[in-house]
Amino acid sequence: INADSGAPTIFDKIINKEIPSSIVYEDEKVLAFRDISPQAPVHVLIIPKFRDGLTELGKADARHGEILGQLLYAAKIVAEKEGIADGFRVVINSGASACQSVYHLHLHVLGGRQMSWPPG
Ligand code: 5GP
Repeated sequence: INADSGAPTIFDKIINKEIPSSIVYEDEKVLAFRDISPQAPVHVLIIPKFRDGLTELGKADARHGEILGQLLYAAKIVAEKEGIADGFRVVINSGASACQSVYHLHLHVLGGRQMSWPPG
């Protein structure tokens, strides 16, 4: 039932604490840690601890609804913890044409500077 066709990624090693990361929030289901290459003063990644087929948002199906909601709510918790709740951006890159590089679904939480729109 935990079908997951994708290859392991660097995020598995972060979940298993095999490589270090700067964790800002963690609960049973999700892990939030600082991006190694920050694009804003605050740049945090939020991932499901159990990928369960969620290599990318474009592969989600109905069973993922609950974890997707938990990830989005965790973005709000992270924004509050980081002091950017008054203005922040949440981004999901899904697929190569959207510049996804790690195939374990993740939300980017960005803030601490003025953002521009539209994104490139
Ligand atoms: P994507 O391009 O897939 O949406 O985002 C992947 C993100 O993961 C990038 O912003 C990249 O900087 C970050 N990243 C890649 N490898 C590591 C790592 O080993 N540690 C951390 N903390 N972030 C990483």
